[in-house]
Amino acid sequence: MMLKSVVCYFAHPDDETVLAGGIINLLVKQGVHVHLVCATRGEGGELGEPPVVARQELLGAVRERELRCAANALGASVTVLDYVDPVVGPDEVLYPFDADFDTLAKQFGDIARRRAADVILTHGADGEYGHPAHQLVHRAALHGVRAQSPKTLIYTVAALVPTIEDKLWNTNEPAHLALDIRPWAEAKIAAMECHVSQHALFKRRKRLKTVREALRTTESVRRQWPETHGEQPDDAFATLLRDAGAWSP
Ligand SMILES: [Zn+2]
Repeated sequence: MMLKSVVCYFAHPDDETVLAGGIINLLVKQGVHVHLVCATRGEGGELGEPPVVARQELLGAVRERELRCAANALGASVTVLDYVDPVVGPDEVLYPFDADFDTLAKQFGDIARRRAADVILTHGADGEYGHPAHQLVHRAALHGVRAQSPKTLIYTVAALVPTIEDKLWNTNEPAHLALDIRPWAEAKIAAMECHVSQHALFKRRKRLKTVREALRTTESVRRQWPETHGEQPDDAFATLLRDAGAWSP
């Protein structure tokens, strides 16, 4: 099977770039159509340092533009859904967005079916660093896509690579494949540059001076569906990644 269509489901603008920007650009360069589905506009996030907008209610429109810029840099198309990202609570408490689960799952499944997705990519079950909005997107994408597009392969991102330290790993989901994305780094860095409102966050997490230094050079995936029963996945996506240099950690 030749891969033609991959759909990615993420909760907020910048998740696509941080978690899968290298793999997305690799797919695009291999002639695969990649479509990004972003559940919210990330309107509850930080305003930037210095602020890119004066008021919180203006942030969603800015971050949607940042996402479209990043998608363009990676070579993907985008759908932004109208769920609302709640403002981060006191003490950095994170919230999911408000959604009816079955409606969200059906929306996700519809997009995979309409786009004849060979593969979907989405958040891990742990929501990477435990973000409840990422966890919600994970559950809804698995549920909706399995129901409406059962032949589509389901992969999750940021799967654990034990030899590499990264606090984004979903520690309960060992990676099937890990890839050194440096050959696709320029596109990923260009996409990171688009997310201006999040630059302070990117740099603060590692006390860095430039966005480029915040580049994660290893991206990883785990196949969730169909289950692999302890075997390594053997499908068109796994083959494409292996041909690009991916290894099984
Ligand atoms: Zn996110």
